[in-house]
Amino acid sequence: MREFAYLRPTDAAQAVQLLAGGPEARYLAGGTNLVDLMKLGVERPRLLVDLGRLPLGGVAPLDGGGLRVGALVTNADLAADPRVRTAYPVLSQALLAGASGQLRNRATTAGNLLQRTRCPYFQDTAKPCNKRRPGTGCPAREGVHRDLAVLGASEHCIATHPSDLAVALSALDADVELLGPDGARTLHVTDLYRLPGDRPHEEHRLLPGELITAVRLPPPVPGAVSAYRKVRDRASYAFALASAAGVLAVRDGRVTHLRVAFGGLAPKPWRALTAERLLLGAAADEASFAAALEAELADARPLRDNAYKVPLARNLGVRLLCDLAAQGAAR
Ligand SMILES: Cc1cc2nc3c(=O)[nH]c(=O)nc-3n(C[C@H](O)[C@H](O)[C@H](O)COP(=O)(O)OP(=O)(O)OC[C@H]3O[C@@H](n4cnc5c(N)ncnc54)[C@H](O)[C@@H]3O)c2cc1C
Ligand code: SF4
Repeated sequence: MREFAYLRPTDAAQAVQLLAGGPEARYLAGGTNLVDLMKLGVERPRLLVDLGRLPLGGVAPLDGGGLRVGALVTNADLAADPRVRTAYPVLSQALLAGASGQLRNRATTAGNLLQRTRCPYFQDTAKPCNKRRPGTGCPAREGVHRDLAVLGASEHCIATHPSDLAVALSALDADVELLGPDGARTLHVTDLYRLPGDRPHEEHRLLPGELITAVRLPPPVPGAVSAYRKVRDRASYAFALASAAGVLAVRDGRVTHLRVAFGGLAPKPWRALTAERLLLGAAADEASFAAALEAELADARPLRDNAYKVPLARNLGVRLLCDLAAQGAAR
């Protein structure tokens, strides 16, 4: 058992100061990922700063529309919020597709966004891993990589980001509120994450000590419908092999608004920017959706055992968009 200090501040600024004090400190939210990694020896903090007493709960309306979701709102509470279920079904569906009921009761909004990869080598301290120990290598490239990335990866790391919530928030154009030693700032959720390049241990753009205080959902797009689809090995309690979040509005048979994000394919939620650009103003039909998603996935670089993800993602995305178009037309 490795000793660590444990503090429970009641003020967010105080929490930030505590964490900014040293690289071996970690924020503790629901603990469903961090504590597991501590047990495995992957995380070895000297100080845990428990966020549980900070006033970071609650879902509140924003001036001008939209919702502000406190960092400590649990995945279960957010999925069940009537405003989320009605105005942001993609978000509610993504949350309910993640983990299990017990985990969702404990897991928080911010903790979910910052959970670590499920790459088996990352979780096994007996193995090399560039993300866990920079410069030691990436055994996943030659070894077990069926679940790992086909987009945005590098020769140094092919891990995927496991969060379903982050994929839905990316399609919703959500922002993340941060508080750091130098004050508050806001990042688009997709900009929270880095691609691995030659520094896979640097996963996000948080500055030392920065605390996620909330997530901001913009007002729902008028006339748009949204949904989340996830393909996994089991019907529940399993991470995505591929998932897709979509927000679509159609007028007179043409796409007037589209956001698509994929999960399970990349080291971060993968906004399908090429497909979105190609489809804006295009016919909202299966042929257009398929052509645009094929263009999006043209940059995929699968390895020996994960090439199945490319057609899987294409078909999942096409199915999702066709269903959304039909749903929008039926309203
Ligand atoms: C068996 C199992 C199955 C799962 N399946 C899924 C799934 O299908 N889909 C899915 O999305 N997830 C899944 N999860 C992951 C689960 O959703 C995450 O463990 C959970 O969301 C993490 O939230 P937490 O509050 O417990 O975070 P913690 O474990 O407390 O923290 C996680 C990380 O976030 C940091 N952190 C927490 N809060 C803040 C903050 N406010 N500011 C800055 N940093 C912060 C911590 O320091 C830590 O590094 C699964 C987990 C398990 C164990
Ligand atoms: S894919 Fe990334 S996390 Fe997995 S072994 Fe390679 S470097 Fe480590």
